[in-house]
Amino acid sequence: MYTLTAENVVEMGTATKSNEAPLTAGTAEGKRLLVTAGLPEIGTSPDPTASEPSAMSTPLPEFLDSWLAGHEDEIVAVRRHIHANPRLSRQEHDTADYVARKLRESGLKPQLIPDGTGLTCDIGDGERVIGIRADMDALPIQDPKGVPYRSTVDGVCHACGHDAHTAIVLGVGRVLAELSSRGELPGRFRLIFQPSEEQFPSGAPTMIKHGALTDVAAVFAFHCDAQFPTGQIGIRNGPLTAACDVLEVRMRGRGGHTSRPHLTTDLINAMGRVIVDMPALVSRRLDPRHAVAIVFGAVQAGEAANAIPQEAVARATVRMQGRETWQAVPDLVQEVTRSVARTAGVECEIDYRRGVPPVVNDRIASAMFAGATAAALGEQAVAEAPMSMGGEDFAYYLEQVPGAMARLGVGRPGVDCDIHQAHFDIDEAALAHGVRVMVHTALAAAASPAF
Ligand SMILES: [Zn+2]
Ligand SMILES: [Zn+2]
Repeated sequence: MYTLTAENVVEMGTATKSNEAPLTAGTAEGKRLLVTAGLPEIGTSPDPTASEPSAMSTPLPEFLDSWLAGHEDEIVAVRRHIHANPRLSRQEHDTADYVARKLRESGLKPQLIPDGTGLTCDIGDGERVIGIRADMDALPIQDPKGVPYRSTVDGVCHACGHDAHTAIVLGVGRVLAELSSRGELPGRFRLIFQPSEEQFPSGAPTMIKHGALTDVAAVFAFHCDAQFPTGQIGIRNGPLTAACDVLEVRMRGRGGHTSRPHLTTDLINAMGRVIVDMPALVSRRLDPRHAVAIVFGAVQAGEAANAIPQEAVARATVRMQGRETWQAVPDLVQEVTRSVARTAGVECEIDYRRGVPPVVNDRIASAMFAGATAAALGEQAVAEAPMSMGGEDFAYYLEQVPGAMARLGVGRPGVDCDIHQAHFDIDEAALAHGVRVMVHTALAAAASPAF
């Protein structure tokens, strides 16, 4: 029997200097689950000495070991079923029905959202809820793999590992249900299976609209990452993924002969100024530690060397890491673009489109993932995840409640294949690791006074 005790055993001292400081898992005391109750040197964090967390006796991980020994094949089978039957974003009805059926087989009561493409499932009792999120959609990619669980849907493939996320959270649900039936589940937990992570409109706001975050104190998720070998969990405090917005600048004028620019508006010159000056001026108005990358990828204007055109269009992506920057940048880009255009004597239209916010992991939640990983898989399993410039709609949940996303190592030795590539596949041994770490993390979060 292991004793699950909320204790601050993850050292986070270095994290006070920067949100990007590495996490260092502390030493496990005996066989106790590592839990971060607070970060004493950070003023805004709860003081772990202020209230003594309640200790709970929970049969972990022996119960987990025996459960996984008996059920790992089922988790693999679930993943393979979903992999062989992928559904594109907003078409996850079959996947949602399949997950709901599996949950009902475990005596649980899943609730589908009205359009049937997502579901939630509460387990246990308590006022506050610990959320565990999976995404279920696949990508419009042909599956070229020669494996028995190859996609049976032409042109659709689980190349982002969402099949694994779904199978893991289903497995976590079954473990929690087993604990609940034994009267040993310390709190309430919510499994969140969302549609449409890959496409706009994102599925996370849909789930939130239908109550997925009601009473949720903290939320956790995995994303598969083949850059980490199976058995490692990549953890990052602070920004994990970038926000990526899209900008279009359109200018119009009378047009005219290049010999008489003073009689019209010199659109090409004006657009050139915007393209060169606007990113530079925006960067001078922001904290240089929170850099923004505004990069133009398309410009269309004019035909003839001696004719000033009537219209010019330029399009750019705007990528950034921090939540505050993401909030500030749209107005700043509009203001600076207009002022540069005005200097050049032209009016312009600006279409600024929001992408997903950045995923910004909560310090305590990140440390909790690190502690749980060390307890579940050993300290050597805790790795530092790099910041990614990709986007992830888990960010919408973190806009509302604290939480963290960790990178689940699914890489196989000698196999170099990243997500969104047609040949992407996981080492299925990672599925049990995922269940193990997520169960630990969820129970640690439920036991912690930090949320
Ligand atoms: Zn993806
Ligand atoms: Zn993904």
